[in-house]
Amino acid sequence: MTELDLLLMGPPGAGKGTQGRLLGEALGVPWVSSGDLLRHAVEDGSALGEEARGFMSRGDLVPDRVIVGLMSRRLQEPDARGGFIADGYPRTVPQADALAAALDALGRRLTAALAILLPDDEVVDRLSGRRTCPRCGRVYHVEHEPPVRAEHCDADGACLIQREDDSAETIRRRVAVYHKDSEPLIAYYGERGLLREVDGIGPPEVVAERLHAAAASSA
Ligand SMILES: [Zn+2]
Repeated sequence: MTELDLLLMGPPGAGKGTQGRLLGEALGVPWVSSGDLLRHAVEDGSALGEEARGFMSRGDLVPDRVIVGLMSRRLQEPDARGGFIADGYPRTVPQADALAAALDALGRRLTAALAILLPDDEVVDRLSGRRTCPRCGRVYHVEHEPPVRAEHCDADGACLIQREDDSAETIRRRVAVYHKDSEPLIAYYGERGLLREVDGIGPPEVVAERLHAAAASSA
């Protein structure tokens, strides 16, 4: 059996978390975000986890060697033997090389790098319309998913807020950072014939179907 070893890329607002989960369920492989990977590592008390915690508690970036070690270990867990969907990693070309080497050491290779495409204006529209409940954390959108009573949470009636991260200026900056960081990776996977670009416009379940088709046709 060939593993489905996948990467998921996309700008802020592309719904990567939702898509990663949906795709994972559809394909029967776990969605592995770099954030979850680090959180679990810190909790499991392993030597590698302790090392990661040391860097994080000092506010330092966790080095590639540690993250790749954690990733490599994660890929050998029973639920990931048939594949995985990595999200938030790799972020750089050296990290992409390190991941390829880690997969190679396990006798595996990347199936595809899935990139969700979303025009910058759409990203700004999606994120700047976002409102969050400060009490329960539920997220709304002023146009696409408004609360029943304007500016108030359906669950608890709290006054909704716009997070600092969702101001138009901050969003433009985050989009610029995404392009700068992702372009070398897009080129890297493009050169290796692994890049699958998927239109991110449309309802989440439609985007999920596109991603599923792109992944399945790469296997
Ligand atoms: Zn609420």
